[in-house]
Amino acid sequence: MARIGFIGLGNMGGPMARNLVRAGHAVAGFDLAEPARAALAEAGGTAAASLADAVGGADVVLTMLPEGAHVRAAYQGENGVLASAREGALLVDCSTIDVETARAVARAAGERGHAMLDAPVSGGVAGAEAGSLTFMVGGPAAAFEQARPVLERMGRAVIHAGDSGAGQAAKICNNMMLGIQMISVCEAMALAGRLGLDRQKLFEISSKASGQCWSLTSYCPVPGPVPSSPANRDYRPGFTAAMMRKDLRLAQEAAQAVGATTPLGAEAYQLYNLFAMQGKEALDFSAIIQMMEEATQ
Ligand code: NAD
Repeated sequence: MARIGFIGLGNMGGPMARNLVRAGHAVAGFDLAEPARAALAEAGGTAAASLADAVGGADVVLTMLPEGAHVRAAYQGENGVLASAREGALLVDCSTIDVETARAVARAAGERGHAMLDAPVSGGVAGAEAGSLTFMVGGPAAAFEQARPVLERMGRAVIHAGDSGAGQAAKICNNMMLGIQMISVCEAMALAGRLGLDRQKLFEISSKASGQCWSLTSYCPVPGPVPSSPANRDYRPGFTAAMMRKDLRLAQEAAQAVGATTPLGAEAYQLYNLFAMQGKEALDFSAIIQMMEEATQ
């Protein structure tokens, strides 16, 4: 069993770290928020007094932080991960951040003699709690094999996407698909309503026809067809519209950096911006159907 330093014990990192404790790992965790540290201690982990304390004795360091700037600061700041990790410790960042920052931090880690992986996840808070996340991992194959048994305690699918940054690239591409598909399902459901077509019937038909996709069959944006979807609980998240907006922004920044053409990705980003400007970014991302329904009234 490994000694693990876990930085960032929020909505995702908290349950992920608790699953590692449950699996028998010795987990020392740090978060800026005291309640997050207390929750880890209550679950049987160690609440460290500082980032350096959490990282100092670890074989594997995991980070789950909001944005690229936090990741840079946590790794490269004074008393950060790179200054505090012991020789040979494996570093794994699970945050969703831009490809460029992921590669730059991994390069800096390499200069200090540390292998580093970018390993963002899909599956949301429910997946983090259930230990059923999908990990998409970028970095050296040997480091991936070393990290795999730890990641498998938090996820059901652990996939090596390629070199450094490939995990973030996969995450951004996947979530761009998801954002576009969710909007397409919302538009179709709103149109069905206007046409007098029972939305339960559209669900039954499209689930077995060519419009089928995860946004429809697992996360339907109207109440009824999929009882577990956020539409059945007033769009309480789930995965917030703010997070979808962030991931679509990362996709647009990445597309611009490499000159890729992503017209629907750009449109989806604009629609989530508009939704956020209506003050709805804390709702689940499937709530964007409200915008389509308003527009058609
Ligand atoms: P969160 O805001 O709940 O948690 C982030 C935590 O990091 C907070 O508790 C914060 O106090 C802590 N933190 C920030 N800077 C720190 C520092 N320097 N040292 C220690 N702790 C620090 O966010 P979250 O929902 O857990 O998301 C984390 C990452 O996972 C994000 O990149 C997000 O995009 C990604 N993600 C989230 C979901 C989801 O459904 N929530 C799904 C997939 C991916």
